This record gives sequence, structure tokens and C-alpha cells, in this order.
Amino acid sequence: MTDFTLPIRDDLVGVQSYGAPQLDVAAPMNVNENPFGPSPALAAAMAAAVARVAPSLNRYPDRDADELRAALAAYVTRETGVAVTAAQTWAANGSNEVMHHIFLAFGGPGRLAITFDPTYSMYPEYARDTFTEYRTFARRDDFTVDVDAAIASIAELRPSLVLLTSPNNPTGTFLDFADAERIAAACLAAGAMLVVDEAYAEFRRAGTRTAFELLAGYPNVIVSRTMSKAFALAGARLGYAVAADTRVIDVLQVVRLPYHLSAVTQAVALTALEFADELQAQVDLLRSERDALAAWLSDQGYVVAPSDANFILFGMFDDRAAVWQRLLDQGVLIRQTGPAGWLRVSVGTPEENAMFRQALLTAREG
Ligand SMILES: *Cc1c(COP(=O)(O)O)cnc(C)c1O
Repeated sequence: MTDFTLPIRDDLVGVQSYGAPQLDVAAPMNVNENPFGPSPALAAAMAAAVARVAPSLNRYPDRDADELRAALAAYVTRETGVAVTAAQTWAANGSNEVMHHIFLAFGGPGRLAITFDPTYSMYPEYARDTFTEYRTFARRDDFTVDVDAAIASIAELRPSLVLLTSPNNPTGTFLDFADAERIAAACLAAGAMLVVDEAYAEFRRAGTRTAFELLAGYPNVIVSRTMSKAFALAGARLGYAVAADTRVIDVLQVVRLPYHLSAVTQAVALTALEFADELQAQVDLLRSERDALAAWLSDQGYVVAPSDANFILFGMFDDRAAVWQRLLDQGVLIRQTGPAGWLRVSVGTPEENAMFRQALLTAREG
């Protein structure tokens, strides 16, 4: 072949693509999926919904996904007790794409996004792709955000975007509502958008206040959620966000690619929303499995970060890579992530959680 240097963007040369291992194992517990597949009734309803749209797939889908956005707004109104409208709601292919849209609209060259580490590993990629400067500030040892320091940084650096993840990934920790509100106020004063990534919010402990309660008072707040976790729909790719100000939706509409949400995706997501109550029952089971697993881990002498999500960060390990490998050798795939010495396990089915416990005991002897 003729020698040719691909004119790849300088900052992308040699960069590896993101991705956790996708291995065929007995207990996949590494990417925070919901371990329960759709029930037979839901699977049949989704198949029927796809069959209904199939004859008109020659046509482009509803560009604005009006029906889906209305159903999402109705769902979060019920889930959070905060009334929101379709006009405030945005939907895209996973909350990854929602975030990408937010970076396209509010980031860009000469603009700064800040967040608090350790946190979700995708954020720096959205920043890179959109030429947005990206800075992180360290969380405290207990993974809480140092709010006074955050407020000072926001006032000084004047970012256009501040990202807060609650419950945070990979720590599982929830952001105290009063802290979120103080940060929202600091962002408002500094002209910054505050994006609260609530991908795992349905798994929070009862009575925990979510960032939806900020929407009424703070026009700069966007809360993002996903159907990938609580709705057990990671394979369908549907994320959404609710903004205090409908002008946010107007600008997201400007940067999205035309017809970004397929008719198939819209039909599947609408069907899953009809089964929200059934799915919430599974979430309740996962929450009790999580609490039992966290208690077991601490009984075994591990440090466990308090989790409001469907995963648990635990440690400390001198050689976490070795423990990870010994678990994998027994068919249990978890995640090496977070600060050195910690491992993250996604809450599985009761059977998977039992496998994990047994494998960890065995790994400890090894
Ligand atoms: C899993 C996860 C998401 C969801 O991503 P999707 O694209 O909706 O699958 C978003 N944010 C965080 C922090 C996550 O861990």
C-alpha cells in the first residue's frame, strides 16, 4: 500500500478508545448494568411496538420526539414530585449523547468545564471532542465535594459548565442537597450552567432529595438521567435531561444531528416507560441487595463507600489488579476504577452477588 499519513486531528493521534472489557463471563458485574432483563411481558410489548413502527421506517422519525419527551416528563414528575414539562425535557441516544450535546452547546474553544474527581471517566472525552478546557478538583477522602473550595473555584475560574454526578460514579456517593444548592447559586452568580448527572438516582435511599428540586429556583440547572440503569435498557440507548429553562432545549436542538433518535428507539423507550412501576420493583430489590452486599463487605473488614447507586466501591487492596484477576478467573468480572486500592462491583442478581461473595473469599485465600 502507498505510504499515507492519515490527517488525524493532532490531539487524537495515538489516543485509545474508551471501553471496559466486554467478556463472556458467568457474572458480569463491571459496567453497572441492571442485571435483570426485561420481563417476558415487557419484551413482548417492545417487540410489538417495533412491529408497529416497522412499516413506516422509510420515513424519518419524529425529529422532536414529542411523545417520548412528554412521557419522560410525566415519569420524572411522578418519580421526583417536581412537575416538569416536555418542553423542558431533552432525549438522546444515552445520557452520553445528552452530555455531548450539552458540551457542544455550552462548551467549546476558550471555555472551561469543571468537575470533581474521582468521577465519571467519560467527561474528559466530551471535553476533548468539543475543544472544551477541562479541569477537575479533588473530592475529600470520603468522596464528598469540598463545597467552599468549589464555590471559590467557580467564582475565580468562571467556567461555562460545572458537572456534578449524584450518585457519583465510581464512588456511589450522593451529593447532599444543601451542598448542591450552594453550588447552583455559585454557578448562577458566575454565569455557569450546572449539570447534575443523576444516572443512578432511582437507586437512592428513600427520602434523599434530588437536584430536580433546584429547577424551580435556578434557571442555570440541567439534570440528566438515563434509562440504561433503573429501566434496564442499556442496550436501547436512551438518556434524557430536564432543564429549568426551555431555552436550553432550544439550543440542544440546534447542535443535535438531524433525526438523532430513531423511530425504533422512541417506540422501545415509550413502551418501557409504561412498565415503570414493574421496573421500580426490581430497583427496590437491587437496593436491598446493595445494602446487604455493602454490609457483608464491611463485615469482612473492607472499607465501603456509602452507595446510593447500583454499585459499590470497596477497598483497600495493596494489589487490586491481582484481586480483580482472581475474581475473573472464577467468572466474576468487576471493575478496576477509582483511586488506587479500590475496586467497584455492580450489584447483580442475588445469584451473581452470591458468586461474587464466594469468589472474593476464595481470592483472599489465594
Ligand atoms: C452509566 C452512566 C451514564 C449513562 O450513560 P448512558 O449513555 O445513558 O448509557 C451516565 N452518567 C454516569 C455517571 C454513568 O455512570
